[in-house]
Amino acid sequence: MMRQDTFPKNVSSWKTFWLIPIVLIFFISALVSLIQLKQSITILDARHGTSVWTLFQLRSEMRRFIDTLTIYESNPSTLEDVHHRYDLLWSRFPVALKGVDSHQLSKIDGALDQIKTAFSEVKSLESLVFEGLPTNQKLALDIKAKIYPHLEMVEKLSLDNYHYNNAFYNRSDREVAEMLEQLIWLMFGLISTGCLLLLMVLRENKVNLYQAEHDNLTDMPNRAFLRRVLSDRCASGLPFALHLIDLNGFKDINDTLGHHTGDLALQAVASRLREKIDEEFNCITCRLGGDEFAIVQPNVDNEHQVTHLALTIINALEEDFIIDIHQCQIGASIGSTIYPNHGRDGSSLLSHADIAMYQAKNNSPESSQKLFSFKMLEKINRKSQLQRELRGAIQKGELHLEYQPIIFLADGTVSSFEALLRWNHPILNSIPPMEIVEVAEHYGVTKELGVWLIQEVAKQIKTWAAQGLQLLPVSINISPSMYQQDLVSMINSALEENQLPKGLIWIEITEDTSIQIIHKVQKLLPSLSAEGIRVSLDDFGTGLSSLSHLQQLPIQTLKIDRSFISRLQQNETSRALVKHIIDIGHDLGLNVVAEGIEEAYSDELLKQYQCDYAQGYYYSRPMRPELICDFCNSTTPGKQI
Ligand code: C2E
Ligand code: MG
Ligand code: MG
Repeated sequence: MMRQDTFPKNVSSWKTFWLIPIVLIFFISALVSLIQLKQSITILDARHGTSVWTLFQLRSEMRRFIDTLTIYESNPSTLEDVHHRYDLLWSRFPVALKGVDSHQLSKIDGALDQIKTAFSEVKSLESLVFEGLPTNQKLALDIKAKIYPHLEMVEKLSLDNYHYNNAFYNRSDREVAEMLEQLIWLMFGLISTGCLLLLMVLRENKVNLYQAEHDNLTDMPNRAFLRRVLSDRCASGLPFALHLIDLNGFKDINDTLGHHTGDLALQAVASRLREKIDEEFNCITCRLGGDEFAIVQPNVDNEHQVTHLALTIINALEEDFIIDIHQCQIGASIGSTIYPNHGRDGSSLLSHADIAMYQAKNNSPESSQKLFSFKMLEKINRKSQLQRELRGAIQKGELHLEYQPIIFLADGTVSSFEALLRWNHPILNSIPPMEIVEVAEHYGVTKELGVWLIQEVAKQIKTWAAQGLQLLPVSINISPSMYQQDLVSMINSALEENQLPKGLIWIEITEDTSIQIIHKVQKLLPSLSAEGIRVSLDDFGTGLSSLSHLQQLPIQTLKIDRSFISRLQQNETSRALVKHIIDIGHDLGLNVVAEGIEEAYSDELLKQYQCDYAQGYYYSRPMRPELICDFCNSTTPGKQI
């Protein structure tokens, strides 16, 4: 199997193996980072108040109070200051105990209780300060002695509080630092898994792009790639060629040897084209699907280079392929276009190459190549125009029939007629009957055409009869798909509608179509002859039938093709062939008609060979029905076939 077949499988197992842990790491890292970040923010954002200021204020007030007491001891006039300082000291305690800093103080063991005790002590000194002290200066010493231990306590508390805060800050800083360190690792995880994910996405994109533009089976570029290449090349403006290849014989391999062998065959074709065309001629081969390939040939200066490469492609493919154990032959029908002569953009180059390729395919069952020409486009347009208009033409009466007499050679009288289809197209003029039939067959209009034809012939016979012409049979040409329809009842009911006896409409079938659908013909033809509908084998000698088929086909008449008759005078072999065909026909109990007699020599020779009937310009060209009466009046209607 080729690289491309295993490529997606590897990719998917690689993905499953790595994607889950990578995505997990990515999301866990992202989640933990978020949590860490939130915690860090909480720590950094936390309000770490301090009671140091309150305690220092308290301590200062205590000191100032002690200092004013000391001054008062030597100077009684400062009593006012002592009272003032006492009041200030008093007012500091509620701030420490109930103010915003009390929360911080509560974190230090017993701090609030000690301050409360000091406050009580200070309160208890009130009477001493305001009543005792003015009369007894010495009391200042007692008051100081009571304040000192509380001053020490407040100083110690200030110090503890300072240490507590320090410890708190140190711990927070450490935590934040640890978190930041973890964050760095987490970010590393995030960035690396993110990069891996990005790489995977890029790789995935690349794989997707590759798969979007490549064919799974052969690992070759596909139609999307070809379109891109074509538009790039067209944009560059340099001439190049596009070859569209349809393999011949591939369907048989698929049908007879199975789809697996078919796949192997396509891979073998792909690698041969890669090796013998891409590598040697610097071309790009793409598989467009099924058994269709396209090759872009760069640097084209002339048509010769294009046909030369096409031949090289055909030669490369015509070498036998050994697939599994089977020896297979594969051919190619190639349609080629050149930029800018045959199209200025990818789409028109592709569709024109497609038209050329179908021409090559229709032209020959063997490998062949056709270079696109705008004439082909005219043909296609003409076909699709005819196809669109044929139905309407039948209804509008644009189609008509001409009749060519079939002459009884022995006495030169008219024995029957052949009805030949005509379409005088208002724009395209006269459309050859074969083309009308081909269009009708291709687009499913045969039934309508057949019904019209049979009714037209029946009406015409009736008109002639009304004009006094002896009732003579008319042969109609039957196209392949008319075999499937209920011909017998169509013919009989048309005759009946025109009050005509059975057996006045006969049919002609060509060799090729009858051989291709011999089983259907065999079923249909006996019922025809039972109803008096005689059958001629038309254009005998040009088709695929062998003489043994003459035995199998229930026919009554053999019409020797014009190509033998036209060479009678110049070609001895033709003379021998015609003579023997007549003899074989007679031996098989068939009537023989020679088609396309244009000169007296052929008429004479065929009489000598005892050919029964003849048809050709020598006697009459196909005629409008209104001329038939005059023609018949100038000859005597004779013996019927
Ligand atoms: P065919 O059935 O073999 O008809 C004879 C053709 O040979 C006619 O061509 C006729 O005009 C031509 N022909 C007759 N004598 C001579 C001659 O001496 N010299 C030359 N050069 N040609 C002669 P036509 O009308 O162009 O028809 C061609 C073919 O188209 C017919 O060949 C028949 O196969 C087919 N065709 C014609 N009308 C119909 C139709 O209504 N239905 C079907 N399915 N095919 C038809
Ligand atoms: Mg015919
Ligand atoms: Mg014929």
